[in-house]
Amino acid sequence: MTVVIVGGGLAGATVAQTLRERGDDGEIVILAAEPHLPYERPPLSKAVLLGDKGVDSAYVHDEAWWREHDVEVRTGTEVQSIDLAARTLVTNASEQPYEWLVLATGSEPRRLRLADESGRPVHYLRTMEDSLAIKEALTDGARISIIGGGWIGLEVAAAARNAGSAVTVHEGAELPLLAVLGPEVAQSFADLHRAHGVDLRLGAPVTADDLSEADAVVVGIGVTPRTALAEAAGLEVDNGVLVDELLRTSDPHVLAIGDIANQQHPVLGRRIRVEHWDNAIGQGKAAAATILGSAEPYTKLPYFFTDQYDLGMEYFGNVGPDGYDRVQTSGDFGGAFRAWWIRDDTVVAAMQANDWDASDVMRNSVGQAPPPAS
Ligand code: NAP
Repeated sequence: MTVVIVGGGLAGATVAQTLRERGDDGEIVILAAEPHLPYERPPLSKAVLLGDKGVDSAYVHDEAWWREHDVEVRTGTEVQSIDLAARTLVTNASEQPYEWLVLATGSEPRRLRLADESGRPVHYLRTMEDSLAIKEALTDGARISIIGGGWIGLEVAAAARNAGSAVTVHEGAELPLLAVLGPEVAQSFADLHRAHGVDLRLGAPVTADDLSEADAVVVGIGVTPRTALAEAAGLEVDNGVLVDELLRTSDPHVLAIGDIANQQHPVLGRRIRVEHWDNAIGQGKAAAATILGSAEPYTKLPYFFTDQYDLGMEYFGNVGPDGYDRVQTSGDFGGAFRAWWIRDDTVVAAMQANDWDASDVMRNSVGQAPPPAS
């Protein structure tokens, strides 16, 4: 059996690793466009920028591991087209047949023309090279303008303040992380960054003037899933590649996982596309199970974490399009803190900050009645 995995991120790497762990000894090929062995991204906006770890810490495995496990990783390899009927794909180097194809092509940062045309050094954060370039820009006294108050914007802001840079964050919404957390908890993140000296400018579009004095501009305004290859091949695509509970696309020999997968989620009862680290791992494992014929639907609820200054937080679940009725909290945001997003007297999402012993409790609270208010 030949399994071909397109994408050298964590999702693709996890498929290969899981296949080997579960005893598969067929041919496995990973086609990675970047010149690197598969790597994960959380360190790129956290430990690497803080100077705690080098980019090498992001590699999923070293070269010896891939060799010993007989997984062929072809770096610098771009897939140009897929022929679903013939079960082959064409790369910049050769033609490659497959029995199973796993698409794990990830996302592309959204560009902001205003920044690109600002004449200032502009950074996006996706690759190891991007992370190193930003790290170099975050120096004591440097004026760093960040556009986007999402995960990248806020994690870079924390690292920049740690380096002694003067930081301005421009977020179009009224609060950072507003769409994900809602106003109650998003306000706490705004307060946290202001308390650390970030000039947070909210609710207005960034202008060319805003950037004119910046030593470096970092843009983190979201990503677009890389679905062009799937779409050109004729797979069903709608806000990502459409996949079922087993991560199968509209072609039974092709799976899609990670950022690009818009999955029919069996627990949520609706489609969801998740752009987070944990989803790359979970769907990578589930795709391997599907390939091995063991039919284990991917049922895990979304999970993500962030580290900003002294705050570490984890979030479980997903509020979704129906929103929430109320947020219940306990503790202080600066210390140990818990929050539950509640709809129809059921917890739809939960988070802990600096309360790591609460991880399991918070994860298990999703789908249950809220705890008694404290
Ligand atoms: P993101 O988390 O989607 O945040 C983008 C932010 O930029 C949103 O707050 C958005 O506001 C805002 N925005 C959009 N257009 C804007 C504009 N023109 N001017 C100012 N603000 C604008 O995306 P990201 O921070 O770029 O991160 C990229 C990807 O990496 C995401 O998939 C993210 O989940 C992932 N990531 C995750 C973590 C983590 O889990 N800890 C860390 C880093 C990166 P609206 O919502 O109002 O559009």
